[in-house]
Amino acid sequence: MSTIFDKIIAGEIPCKKVYEDNDILAFHDIAPKAPVHILIIPKKSIPGVPSLQQEDDALMGRMIRIANQIADTFSLENGYRLVINSGTDGGQSVDHLHFHLLGGRSLTWPPG
Ligand code: AMP
Repeated sequence: MSTIFDKIIAGEIPCKKVYEDNDILAFHDIAPKAPVHILIIPKKSIPGVPSLQQEDDALMGRMIRIANQIADTFSLENGYRLVINSGTDGGQSVDHLHFHLLGGRSLTWPPG
C-alpha cells in the first residue's frame, strides 16, 4: 500500500529534506511537536516495526546512527528523543516505518 511517505520518496510530494542517501531519507515533520522535529525513514516500504525482517537489522542500525548525525547538525548537545510509534495504541498514523527525532526543548516523560 502506497503511503504519503512513498510519495515523498518518489518526489511527488515536496518535503524539507535534511538528509538523503540510497536507503534513507530525513525531512522536517509538517506539524512539528518540538523546535526540531525530523522524520527519518527508510526508502524501502516497511509498514512498521512488526514488519521488520532480519535483513533490515543493518538498515535500522544505520538509521539510528544517521539520526544522531542529524541531531549533531541541529546542535542538540543537550539531548533529544528518538521515537517510533507503532500501531493504533502507539499513535502511528502513517504506515511507513519512521523515526521521530525530537529536540530543542526539554521533553516530558511519560508521553501522554
Ligand atoms: P506517526 O503519527 O508516528 O505515524 O507520524 C507521522 C508523522 O508524519 C506526523 O508527525 C505527521 O505530522 C507527519 N507528516 C504527515 N504528512 C507529512 C508530510 N507531507 N510531510 C512531513 N511530515 C508529514
